[in-house]
Amino acid sequence: MIGVLDLQGDVVEHLDHLERLGVVARRVKDPSHLHNLKGLIIPGGESTCLSRLLRIFEIDTAIMEACKRGVKIWGTCAGAILLATQIVGEKAYLGLIDMEIERNSFGSQLDSFAAVASIPKVSSEPVPLTFIRAPKIRSVGPGVEILLRMDDYIAAAETEGILATVFHPELTNNFAFHRYFSRKCGLLAGESPLLADPTWKPTSWTRLARISTG
Ligand code: GLN
Repeated sequence: MIGVLDLQGDVVEHLDHLERLGVVARRVKDPSHLHNLKGLIIPGGESTCLSRLLRIFEIDTAIMEACKRGVKIWGTCAGAILLATQIVGEKAYLGLIDMEIERNSFGSQLDSFAAVASIPKVSSEPVPLTFIRAPKIRSVGPGVEILLRMDDYIAAAETEGILATVFHPELTNNFAFHRYFSRKCGLLAGESPLLADPTWKPTSWTRLARISTG
């Protein structure tokens, strides 16, 4: 089972992608929800807000312990900021992947953009990327593998336990990163009929209203 941190940010979009891959997922709202997870996704949103909520609900230390136990963690955008060991001009939060990241590095919300890139380790097909007031990974330490380098920055990197992407695969109709992370967690990400859904839209997650939070 994969957990999606459900404090703030784009939670339902990740749940939607996991469901379409046939991967069982659970919302994580307090430390007890980390029990028995193979992986945890920290979604995009606003990293200062997320870091405060992590502390208030005491999930920050529980996530660091889960990481030590071998639970794989994937941070997208604000989630990647929370995972970095260094943040330009700010104190780091969870510090679980050796990299330096710079917040809001492309400019304002209006400088958000979409791109397409080839990421051979993740997919044999080009992968669509959505950057929303994204950070840039400026550098990574030894032992961190760069999955995607673009212009003057790194957009995706990983270690054995952590995956960090500055873009949002959950906001595209492409499932390669969710499949890749599920496999990293040792889970089978099957081919659900939902994957071939030609009616997919960025708002398709709205049909998730029926999913329980238990
Ligand atoms: N700009 C946000 C931050 O610095 C991240 C944006 C996102 O997650 N899309 O926290």
